[in-house]
Amino acid sequence: MMQDTVNGLSTLLDAQALITDPKDKEPFLHEWRDRYHGKAAAVVQPRTTEEVCAVLRFANDERIPVVPQGGNTGLVGGQTPDASGNAIVLSLARLNRVRDVDPAGNTITVDAGVVLQTVQEHADKAGRLFPLSLGAQGSCMIGGNLSTNAGGTGVLAYGNTRDLVLGLEVALPDGRLLNGLSKLRKDNTGYDLKHLFVGAEGTLGVITGATLKLFPKPKGMRTAMIGLATPHQALKLFTLMQGLAGPSLTGFEIMPRIGLEFALRHLPGARNPLAQLHDWYVLAEISSGRGDDDAEALLMQSMETSFEERLVEDAVVAQSLDQAQTLWSIRHGMSEAQKPEGASIKHDVSVPVARVADFLDEAITAVIELVPGCRPLAFGHLGDGNIHFNVSQPIDADRADFLAHWDRMNDVVHGIVTAYGGSISAEHGIGQSKRHLLPGVKDPVALALMQTLKQAIDPHGIMNPGKVLPD
Ligand SMILES: Cc1cc2nc3c(=O)[nH]c(=O)nc-3n(C[C@H](O)[C@H](O)[C@H](O)COP(=O)(O)OP(=O)(O)OC[C@H]3O[C@@H](n4cnc5c(N)ncnc54)[C@H](O)[C@@H]3O)c2cc1C
Repeated sequence: MMQDTVNGLSTLLDAQALITDPKDKEPFLHEWRDRYHGKAAAVVQPRTTEEVCAVLRFANDERIPVVPQGGNTGLVGGQTPDASGNAIVLSLARLNRVRDVDPAGNTITVDAGVVLQTVQEHADKAGRLFPLSLGAQGSCMIGGNLSTNAGGTGVLAYGNTRDLVLGLEVALPDGRLLNGLSKLRKDNTGYDLKHLFVGAEGTLGVITGATLKLFPKPKGMRTAMIGLATPHQALKLFTLMQGLAGPSLTGFEIMPRIGLEFALRHLPGARNPLAQLHDWYVLAEISSGRGDDDAEALLMQSMETSFEERLVEDAVVAQSLDQAQTLWSIRHGMSEAQKPEGASIKHDVSVPVARVADFLDEAITAVIELVPGCRPLAFGHLGDGNIHFNVSQPIDADRADFLAHWDRMNDVVHGIVTAYGGSISAEHGIGQSKRHLLPGVKDPVALALMQTLKQAIDPHGIMNPGKVLPD
């Protein structure tokens, strides 16, 4: 079977695009945290959309599973094949041309394998901003960002990846190419099919190209690290700053004291930006179309009012881009800083913004009750209602013993999330890791419609089987 797959693929692709050597396949078969491992008959790296279509046509005829893969930075195992060894991993890494940059229309059109940071750089060179920004931006690819509907730190002002796409080109499971590479801002000609493939995690087709929105670059920016006492103070601060700055509030992230302590302990060069430690921190960013002075004035006004209202204990405002990056590096380093502290049980959840503080209070109390001594490190995008609710093992606890609580702790946290009308996957997706949870949280009619669409578009079930949809 595996040899038949390789033989078939070798009639479609040259030797460089077909990887069969076990050592060369290895990096594509597990992800960076080593949580998911799989096997594959072959890894293919097509260089053209025609080659992508040819591989899919062959796989569809032969009923061979295809697992699309971008930068392999996904956090839910969606890009890793199963253990059967039957699948073809279709890596987009060589489909990596920037096709067109259009500053007048504020668009950029790229192949799916272009790395996110490269898109940002091309936009910047054209005097524009591509606002999608996340910790993995040096490795993740636009096709992966679209397929996971990635969020990141720019969502508050610009929306998630879904909001940034104008047109998509998609290779369908039967080998046809859906050419939807439109630059149009308005087009009401029936179903907007591109949104089916955004967030589908490779279960409906392979995204091969995208036209994305660009924005004017802010002319000024100010970032502050703010110490405060409780999540409720942070939420009040958010409401206050949004009221004062409106859409100029482009970032609002929350971190607990333990997050800063881990960062100071484990991130090279990290320093406490404030004189003392505080129970909670907010990283707030204001952008302005007018300039730094305007951004600074808005930030200072927010700080003055919040000190007067006793929301804030202390704050530091970055005076240069370097200083701002130093503050952001603490926030971006949260996951990294947590690793040396042992095992961590993770949740990527969202609740309505107005309920974030209540959720944090309730969930933190609940997990400490469940595993006394555990160390909740709940951080993330407060302004989007999205919290990375990570829980580190108790000091000196046995790693495996702590991880044995994973499902029970998920149940507890997800139960609270659901009670607040939230989502058990805010931005990382479902992949393999949360597939079994979907029937418990998704509206049954929505789930049935998802199955109907899957059946209609991929009747032989070759696209990323075992991901997203429950059996
Ligand atoms: C340090 C770090 C920080 C992160 N921060 C964030 C964050 O802030 N916000 C956030 O949302 N995510 C974050 N992530 C998760 C991850 O970076 C995103 O999910 C990213 O969008 C995945 O892109 P990728 O190219 O690596 O995709 P992959 O991991 O390769 O694939 C992800 C999924 O998309 C599918 N896929 C990939 N390419 C295609 C394609 N062309 N067509 C169809 N399906 C495809 C795969 O089959 C898989 O299901 C972070 C990850 C890391 C490691």
